[in-house]
Amino acid sequence: MREQNLKLVSEEGIRIDGRRFDELRPLKIEIGVLDKSDGSAYVELGKTKVFAAVFGPKEVHPKHLALPDRAILNCRYHMTSFSVDERKPLGMTRREIELSKVIREALESVVFLEEFPRTSIDVYVEVIQADGGTRTAGLTAASLALAEAGIPMADLIAAVAVGKVEGHLLLDLCDIEDKYGEADMPIAMAPRLNSIVLLQLNGRLTKEELKKGLELAKKGINEIYQKEREALRRKYSGVSPVEV
Ligand code: ADP
Repeated sequence: MREQNLKLVSEEGIRIDGRRFDELRPLKIEIGVLDKSDGSAYVELGKTKVFAAVFGPKEVHPKHLALPDRAILNCRYHMTSFSVDERKPLGMTRREIELSKVIREALESVVFLEEFPRTSIDVYVEVIQADGGTRTAGLTAASLALAEAGIPMADLIAAVAVGKVEGHLLLDLCDIEDKYGEADMPIAMAPRLNSIVLLQLNGRLTKEELKKGLELAKKGINEIYQKEREALRRKYSGVSPVEV
């Protein structure tokens, strides 16, 4: 339960975790973190920690499910039982099934699936610790894992949630802001294409707030995109992964 007088935004315009309204949480990105998959990435945004792994393109089993003109993209978003305060039930919840679908649809809009007919590409997003923004961090990690697997894409995806808390528009909500705020809007973009590949809204925003929220998200997305590119450059220039 929220304490009666708990303020999420101070008079001075500082958030509960010390950030300004337009500030991302500390971001750490590593690529190629798992040996057994064709591509993998780790994204940490504050206390939210997510791995993504990609297998494929590979032959489809059973064969009759294969598509003659493109690859099938399978996606599974999953939160570990220990990723949240109260142990999450084992197995896939309705929420995880929904998030698997929206992440897959966002990825499908950038991956050149037609280059790999009759194959499947499997994407796993595993949330190790959840503190808000897991679908967006998962999507960012999944696009980097696809890049490491050498799967051609029109662009990387960078994603973040914005929201309204105590009347203020805030970038990159943490769990408590998400829970007690008035609105939460996860957004994912292919920044080079200037195209939105995922947009969801939980709660209510005015038309003006929606416009401002999108601008705020774009600012965060551009910062995340730069870090993604830096992480890829680091990986392929042979320098060992370090925190950025
Ligand atoms: P997102 O993680 O993409 O922001 P939601 O808005 O559905 O997705 O969830 C917000 C946050 O709520 C999660 O990041 C997590 O911290 C928390 N949460 C989600 N599912 C559960 C759960 N089953 N138990 C406890 N906390 C949860």
